[in-house]
Amino acid sequence: MPGLALVARTAWGAGGEPAHGAGGGAFGPRHDLAVLVHEGRIAAVAPAAAAGSLGADRVVDLGDVTLLPGFVDAHVHLTATGLGVHGANLRGARSAAQLLERVAAAAERSAGGLVWGDGYDETTFPSPGLPTPAALDAAAGGRPVYLSRVDGHQGLATLQVLAEAGALAAVGCDRGPDGAPTGVVRDDANHRARRHAIGQLSNATLVAAQDQALALAARRGVVCVHEMGGPDISSRRDFELLIGRLDTLPLQVVGYWGAFDLDYVLDRKQALRCARRAVRVVGHTAFAACRHRIEHVELLGSDGADRMAELGLAAGVQPAFDAAWGGPNGMYERRLGSRRAKSMNPFADLWRRGVPMGGSSDSNVTPLNPWHGVAAAVHHHRAPQRLGLPVALELFTLGGRVLARQERTTGRIQPGQRADLTAFPGDALAIDPSKLEQVDAVFTMVGGRFAHGPEELAMDVAFSFGGWT
Ligand SMILES: [Zn+2]
Repeated sequence: MPGLALVARTAWGAGGEPAHGAGGGAFGPRHDLAVLVHEGRIAAVAPAAAAGSLGADRVVDLGDVTLLPGFVDAHVHLTATGLGVHGANLRGARSAAQLLERVAAAAERSAGGLVWGDGYDETTFPSPGLPTPAALDAAAGGRPVYLSRVDGHQGLATLQVLAEAGALAAVGCDRGPDGAPTGVVRDDANHRARRHAIGQLSNATLVAAQDQALALAARRGVVCVHEMGGPDISSRRDFELLIGRLDTLPLQVVGYWGAFDLDYVLDRKQALRCARRAVRVVGHTAFAACRHRIEHVELLGSDGADRMAELGLAAGVQPAFDAAWGGPNGMYERRLGSRRAKSMNPFADLWRRGVPMGGSSDSNVTPLNPWHGVAAAVHHHRAPQRLGLPVALELFTLGGRVLARQERTTGRIQPGQRADLTAFPGDALAIDPSKLEQVDAVFTMVGGRFAHGPEELAMDVAFSFGGWT
């Protein structure tokens, strides 16, 4: 059989049962493995010594790398991620003055129109206070400005933007002691301002931002992302620009559209009652097979994991949130109180009860970087909720496939599965996952096609990568 045989010293996800199953962690690793890729699928998995007898057109010895099923980031915002690179990147800014410097630099870099900035977090400023709308206006040379806080739930904009967006009279428009708007918007006012600001960006800008985010994901070993669109997050236009070109994108994108126009979604108890009723009507197995998912399963009551398991609900989790906001005096504790903070992000509880889970970054809230998420799950601030490395890896590979009901076709290195693969240098199972956060994937393959990696890999010539490390 013709095809490409990839030989790796270490492979994970190639054997046994997933950690989620009764086998418990036998999913990997295996050593010295050859994987034959043919017509977009994994055609055979064999010991490296047998690579020559697989009949491949080409055998590529990747050397000392770890071959993995490609990562899935099960909750991202591609456009915001790309815009974070394109516009003013406000991450790490520690004062109002630094915010203004970065806005001024972004305004200088770009030709005209609205200046978009992303990632500020005023809770980390040593001395509190955000710039005034007038200071923002001056820094951008009079151009409209919209800055998104790191979580996307608060914005800071020039008054012109707020006026044009109809945000000045909306709920959530912050005002100072003198009654004048401070430029800070939350809730409805933020949704309006954000929607208006995105409306100012051209189709070309949105597409370029999406492409930039996908290229970044491919470099990180990601083969599939779940795009979480919604009218208050991006826009229908933005979502359709992405969904309209699914077949031509380098990675697999699963689109989810979330809108709050269903009143019952706003009432969590009512939603749970609906779920209970649905379970009774269609039966537990049929309901669980739908993989209804709850996103951001952070703050669960003491019986929350049991109830999710009972209802057959799946969980979208973001371990990097714990890394960013967990721990003593973290944002969770300061905003929600220490009692609630002590029960946040109960990954191990959910896992032990067999709740299907997929890991994600919610990029650009936290970096689009699966190793960062894996490391955060392994090093959870609350030791009893830590996941072992194999489980954490499964969260960011097979987990996303389970959420999207794709686990029968992809997510493991097994014959018949789609060739969605990645590799990282060295033995990734033998080191702390945080060490891989700054390391690019050796290659990323989606359905047998290379989305990232050295040109030689994609060329139809004999080539050996022995000696990567
Ligand atoms: Zn999100």
